Amino acid sequence: MLKHADFGEADRLVTLFTREEGKLRAIAKGARKPGSRKGGHLEPFTRVSLLLGKGREIPIVEQAEAVELNAALGSNLVALGYAAYVVELIDKFSADHDEHRGVYRLTRDTLQRLASGEDLQLAVRFFEVKLLEQMGFRPQLQQCAACGAEIQPEDQYFSFELGGAVCPRCGRQRGGGAVQRISLGALKVLRHLQRSDYATARRVQPSPPVQLELESLMNLYVSYLLERNLNTPKFLRRVRK
Ligand SMILES: [Zn+2]
Repeated sequence: MLKHADFGEADRLVTLFTREEGKLRAIAKGARKPGSRKGGHLEPFTRVSLLLGKGREIPIVEQAEAVELNAALGSNLVALGYAAYVVELIDKFSADHDEHRGVYRLTRDTLQRLASGEDLQLAVRFFEVKLLEQMGFRPQLQQCAACGAEIQPEDQYFSFELGGAVCPRCGRQRGGGAVQRISLGALKVLRHLQRSDYATARRVQPSPPVQLELESLMNLYVSYLLERNLNTPKFLRRVRK
């Protein structure tokens, strides 16, 4: 369950990310009535078992049963902010009725990790790297995305347009807003995340400056890909202060 909006007098329009059909919208009738059983189960970040019936234009939620509440997110504002970011990326990167089981599993696992309060930043960076890969935007980090030269162990640049690391020589030529600097430390973390499953990914402990650098770089790259600004990174910066 990604998000919901008020609909009509007492109904709710819910946006779901389902295992079988990817993203879809449905109407939950009467979900805003006090004491509505359905309404209580249809909350963001919750994994729900649903029975959908045919509606005139969009499906109707006949039954809803929460399978996994991820309720701990309610008591940790930063984790909640990250969960909102994860849901926003899924919502914006996916099209309606586009089945994507890999992304479904990744989203389910990431929300569980955030709810369990383990390394939040790492869980989100891992999510971004794997989501980009699943969506066909895997960044090229081994060869320069401009000239093809092998990337050397030194600070590099990153090009959103070319979708990957750019060697210092090409980076300086391009300059300006076309490329961002990326430290060797941050590049190494991205490579590690790309080739690892989560258990292996967790063994890396990026320093706080590298974490900040990666967060800023990934937010900018994802925003560039979506060609619009995301709302949740701003929210996250506010709640951290
Ligand atoms: Zn180059």
